[in-house]
Amino acid sequence: MDAQFSQSEKVRYSRQTILPQFGLTGQTKLKNARVLFVGAGGLGSAPAIYLAAAGVGTIGLIDPDKVSLSNLHRQILHFTPDVDKPKVVSASEKLTQINPNVKIVTYQERLTVQNAQSIIDDYDVVIDGTDNLPSRYLINDACFFLKKNFIFGGVYQFEGQVSVFGASGPCYRCIFREMPSPEEMPSCVEAGVIGVIPGIIGLMQANEAIKGICGMGESLLGRLLIFDALSACWREVKIKNDPECPLCGAHPTIKKLEEYSWECASGKMSQMMLQVSVRELKELRDKNPDLYLLDVREQEEWDVDRIEGAHLKPMSQLQDNYQDIPKDKPVYCYCHAGGRSARVVGFLKSQGYENVYNVIGGMQAWSEEIDSPSF
Ligand SMILES: [Zn+2]
Repeated sequence: MDAQFSQSEKVRYSRQTILPQFGLTGQTKLKNARVLFVGAGGLGSAPAIYLAAAGVGTIGLIDPDKVSLSNLHRQILHFTPDVDKPKVVSASEKLTQINPNVKIVTYQERLTVQNAQSIIDDYDVVIDGTDNLPSRYLINDACFFLKKNFIFGGVYQFEGQVSVFGASGPCYRCIFREMPSPEEMPSCVEAGVIGVIPGIIGLMQANEAIKGICGMGESLLGRLLIFDALSACWREVKIKNDPECPLCGAHPTIKKLEEYSWECASGKMSQMMLQVSVRELKELRDKNPDLYLLDVREQEEWDVDRIEGAHLKPMSQLQDNYQDIPKDKPVYCYCHAGGRSARVVGFLKSQGYENVYNVIGGMQAWSEEIDSPSF
């Protein structure tokens, strides 16, 4: 079995092959593995570096963009002299320097309905390193049809999420059935993100990839981890197969890849996005105390602090628990920092709620600016 490793590879990987649970068997599985990164940016950077270093045999990179200066604070695969270079070229150069034994395959294009299945079919597992929902839904659906696992990662401001979605489900649509319209799609381009958060989430994705390839440990399949960088807390939400899921449920309505919207005009989006600041919310409440305020954090967060008069419906249970949210009055949705609530706004819109708003900065902004103004 070790014949396929050169002497220098044996030395290179020796600190992981001495692990009894991993050994040369694990190393061989990594060498035979083919991992596709959709997106060679913030989320993809750290896991691509680590998977190349670990000795994954083939790494595919698909990304249509060029490196820009504002990418560099989080996209650590790209260096200052790489600005204006295609990301896949810059990434490929770095990964080859880290480990010349890895075969890098690049696609300088966007993942589309037309190319998704043929590209993904060449790989064992897909790492979602995108910053937009249309790509995520496309990856989810294509991986479902091809019976491949995809390792999901998402970041928003100070929050990150990571999970594994599989061919037998649950899939991403088991949590968020339909893709929200562009105005409800915050991407980190407009929302801002602290650079270490995609790094932390990306490395969790890399860890899931290594475990999955080598058949070690307990996968994140059916479990969503949510990381709050400000409190440095991880929470785990169990995800079940939704029997009504339009993709993986008992009576699917999605039977092939659909058209996915690629609109991502960030400036336009933030104007269109239905969101309010905590100060605007305070003024609106003073005028209309009857408006419906929805808190989507977990019970333990609610116990610590809350906005008086809000209704608690944790995001983890919302899918079975949203029907009594009124449709005839405006709904203002908040979480700790604004990430989860943005997703809930998207979910409620998909369920026919017209008048739903995200509260920017969530409870944290409310505590700082409204409850204890120190200026
Ligand atoms: Zn599903």
